[in-house]
Amino acid sequence: MARIVQKFGGTSVGDVERIGHVARRVKREVDAGNEVAVVVSAMTGVTNQLVERVREAARLHDAREYDAVVATGEQVAAGLLALALQAIGVSARSFLGWQVPILTDDAHGRARIQSIDPTLLLQRMADGQVPVIAGFQGIGPDRRITTLGRGGSDTTAVAIAAAVAAERCDIYTDVDGVYTCDPRIVTKARKLARITYEEMLELASQGARVLHTRSVEMAMNHRVRVQVLSSFDDSPGTLVVDEDEIMEQRTVSGIAYSRDEAKVTLTHVADRPGVAAAIFGPLADASINVDMIVQNVSADGETTDLTFTVTRADLDKTMQLLQARQAELGYRALLPDPKVVKISVIGIGMRSHAGVALTMFRTLAERGINIQVISTSEIKVSVLIAEEYTELALRVLHTAYGLDVT
Ligand code: ADP
Ligand code: ASP
Ligand code: MG
Repeated sequence: MARIVQKFGGTSVGDVERIGHVARRVKREVDAGNEVAVVVSAMTGVTNQLVERVREAARLHDAREYDAVVATGEQVAAGLLALALQAIGVSARSFLGWQVPILTDDAHGRARIQSIDPTLLLQRMADGQVPVIAGFQGIGPDRRITTLGRGGSDTTAVAIAAAVAAERCDIYTDVDGVYTCDPRIVTKARKLARITYEEMLELASQGARVLHTRSVEMAMNHRVRVQVLSSFDDSPGTLVVDEDEIMEQRTVSGIAYSRDEAKVTLTHVADRPGVAAAIFGPLADASINVDMIVQNVSADGETTDLTFTVTRADLDKTMQLLQARQAELGYRALLPDPKVVKISVIGIGMRSHAGVALTMFRTLAERGINIQVISTSEIKVSVLIAEEYTELALRVLHTAYGLDVT
């Protein structure tokens, strides 16, 4: 007997028929003698609709009410799955975040889980009942509903798995595992049998939405065994594991892309100490996260151009803040560009192999794709390019690193 957590994403619970299918999958684990807790996302499309309604109601909305609205999608899915389980003879009940309880901080819209009391869940499971927990939500210190950020149900699942000391956390989704690249764009992408926590963390944080970034962080910290697999077929999925559990040596394991990028360039900024701090200080104060930064060498010894990226959602605010400081910062032009994409190649093998970045630059150059900004870390190289080249760049890089299925 094992204790396991199963998480089902939006497409997996997309309609009542699919929810019935999910219920049978849960029953299979129960019938095998396991203690099972389930986490669900909202039915596909529902969260987007709710977000849209909030925006219609108020463009600059109260984040606490945003959470009260967008958390409701998961409540419906959890209730429907509990009903579907009962209908096939499995004892089940739904749990909202606050009923578990899942306590978070007060960062509405992107809250972090602070603690989970597993007592009630463990009791129910020991009694042979399946708790069906609404993902993506919790309760803040002010006793108001919080949400964990888009895609956050994965994080709920891993956090529950850690709290109840589950043997496994199975993330069921609409693809049958983690691929070398988004299989919806690169048809030659290959399914990985295993991937390290570190690589998965980089892939997720660089845009591969198959797992929520924080879910990987949490799995890594609490050593939760995460498996990504399909809710539609029985093919073996991908295991996220420690480095020493990986047999195969590869330099690049995967390629991710993020369209959620916007580039800002300031021209003719004074080339003297303190200028970067004057530019980035107000952005940090406004909780705007700056990702890539490049500053050119000053040609005349007096001024230079500075380029950086923020998320698209932060672009307007960034422009506003910098425009208001034009006199103080003394730049000549402030140029926004939201039509960019960040492409990242990731692999722990980069620590010991040189030339990964060079292959990237050459491959893109051969296709006439201009690189606008570059950034690197120990196991990652990222470039910013024009959005129109996304598909082409992903495909040629995938081939160049020998990742194509044969
Ligand atoms: P769910 O609703 O089940 O949480 P998501 O849409 O959040 O599903 O995540 C699954 C999607 O992630 C897939 O449909 C796929 O298009 C996308 N994806 C992006 N990169 C990858 C990758 N490297 N491997 C697998 N899927 C990926
Ligand atoms: N329903 C939420 C979203 O669409 C959470 C999730 O799917 O993980 O972002
Ligand atoms: Mg998801």
